Amino acid sequence: MGMKVKIDYLLKLKIVAVVVLCVALLHSCVGKEPEKSIITVSILPQKYFLEQIVGDKFVVSCMLNEGNNPEAYEPSMTHLINIEKSKAYFCIGYIGFEYAIVGKARANNPDLKIYNNSKGIEVLRGTHGVPGDEEVDPHVWSSVRNAMQIVQNMYEAVVELDPKNEKTYTENYNRLKSNLESLDKKFANMLEPKRGSAFLVWHPSLSYFANDYGLRQISIEYEGKEVPINMLKEKIDTAKASGAKVLFIQQEFDSSQAETLNEEIGAKIVRINPMNYNWVEEMEDIANAIANN
Ligand SMILES: [Zn+2]
Repeated sequence: MGMKVKIDYLLKLKIVAVVVLCVALLHSCVGKEPEKSIITVSILPQKYFLEQIVGDKFVVSCMLNEGNNPEAYEPSMTHLINIEKSKAYFCIGYIGFEYAIVGKARANNPDLKIYNNSKGIEVLRGTHGVPGDEEVDPHVWSSVRNAMQIVQNMYEAVVELDPKNEKTYTENYNRLKSNLESLDKKFANMLEPKRGSAFLVWHPSLSYFANDYGLRQISIEYEGKEVPINMLKEKIDTAKASGAKVLFIQQEFDSSQAETLNEEIGAKIVRINPMNYNWVEEMEDIANAIANN
């Protein structure tokens, strides 16, 4: 009796071992997935949007990391090689380095598909850079309404790149779109009492946001640099006269002068990072700071 129990036990153990081995073998042969295709984007908010649409169907690689200044960015060799391995490159639209990259990457990978995520966005001019300059304001992503166009462009592009997963992309896109619509409605309500009022910003990165909700953005920096001494008084007077209660400063632009100037202006300093992956959080912080000050 005791002997039989032991044999049964050993037999069971053997069966279990064989089954485990078979499953493991089967998994290593059948379960081997082909390497996922890469889509490269320029900035982290794009990565945030695109990942919500593609889920795990693509790997989303991003050129700029947090803290990089998009206007002074030089892509490394590694970054360029990564683009060449990508199935597509999604430009945000008006950042200087993108033009250089797209040309180089295409020369080395003629199959690389290039999409402009800002297609269809009504651009602002004269709100960025040297006064009087009519260059397109590049900060298109700092606006919920623009984001709706950006994600629509992304959605159409991924369906074109991978039509067999269209159903998944459509579901994800619809969810994202309705979240953005709710966010825009919320901001419009919150900011309605502030319509026509001004806020200060070191670097003019919120032109589109201001435009969406009828706010006035007053930027402090001078032609992308510190304010020259002979202009300090004028800047401080303009800022004070605007009645603005908040001064936004960004880590990627040098703003040590902002704090000194603000001793005279007396606004509340709020640090923002429009290059943040957590785009919704960032937009909420901006809207709240304006609504509550
Ligand atoms: Zn800028």
